[in-house]
Amino acid sequence: MDLLGDQAVLHSNALAGKTALICGASRGIGAATAQVMAKAGANVVVASRNEEQLKALLEQLKTLGDGQHRMLIMDLEETDSIAACVEPLLEGGPIHILVNNAGGPPGGPLLKATVDELSQPFARHLHAAHTLVKLLAPGMASANYGRIIQIVSTSVREPIPNLGVSNTLRGAMASWSKSLSRELHPSITINNVLPGFTDTERLGSLAQSIHQRTGQSIESIHEGWMNQVPIERLIDPLETASVIAFLASPAAGAIRGVSLPVDGGRLRSI
Ligand code: NAD
Repeated sequence: MDLLGDQAVLHSNALAGKTALICGASRGIGAATAQVMAKAGANVVVASRNEEQLKALLEQLKTLGDGQHRMLIMDLEETDSIAACVEPLLEGGPIHILVNNAGGPPGGPLLKATVDELSQPFARHLHAAHTLVKLLAPGMASANYGRIIQIVSTSVREPIPNLGVSNTLRGAMASWSKSLSRELHPSITINNVLPGFTDTERLGSLAQSIHQRTGQSIESIHEGWMNQVPIERLIDPLETASVIAFLASPAAGAIRGVSLPVDGGRLRSI
């Protein structure tokens, strides 16, 4: 599939004139989202902590579309410094699209997690997303266009064994965004994308941690995962990114307050 070419979900002007801030963009689903949105003509601001990876991504984005792309070095765990990072961006005009995304919490039994191990991911995801929405929503309302998308997890619907901190966080994120969907300006949508087993570093490190904890081979861990997924393969991050870009487009203006799985059919709930 050439999701950045002939099979791109959006035409090359679908997001023209729109500026997107994509968090956790240095790799994985965030980087793929930056690529798909650049291809659809958006001006993309890629944010993360890793300057080298962001620079390399910017070079790629330049080859994909006609938008003006920039990078922002921002640690989402530093809640108090987020405003100072983002406010200079707003001097150039509103951010129309916000993708709230960051690395997931480590695995392990919830009973073993310390309060600090809960606080850190809550800061990185929920507190950061809340801070960003408060900063960006007024500009979205003035522009009469806003799209806010969280990258969460299927654990919103079905908690995943041994990912208790993540399960707790994802439920909170989903409730937070559903609550906001009733409060935000009519021109702003807010939705969640729930990735299933997606071929990124996050999945690789989860496999490693299961291997270290149980001794199970990486191959059999993958096989166990694939047995749960009707499409019998990992999801390409560009597939997830294509759904995120669609939700960010004008065509998705009536979709508000949903949690949309992109999981190859793994969820069993209706
Ligand atoms: P990833 O770990 O590959 O990428 C995470 C990104 O967030 C990276 O760019 C990283 O640099 C950035 N990041 C991490 N901490 C940060 C911080 N403090 N400040 C700023 N940026 C930070 O993850 P991914 O696989 O692309 O997944 C994206 C999200 O989806 C994660 O929350 C993940 O847990 C969730 N998810 C992924 C899968 C999967 O199979 N890959 C499945 C379900 C849910």
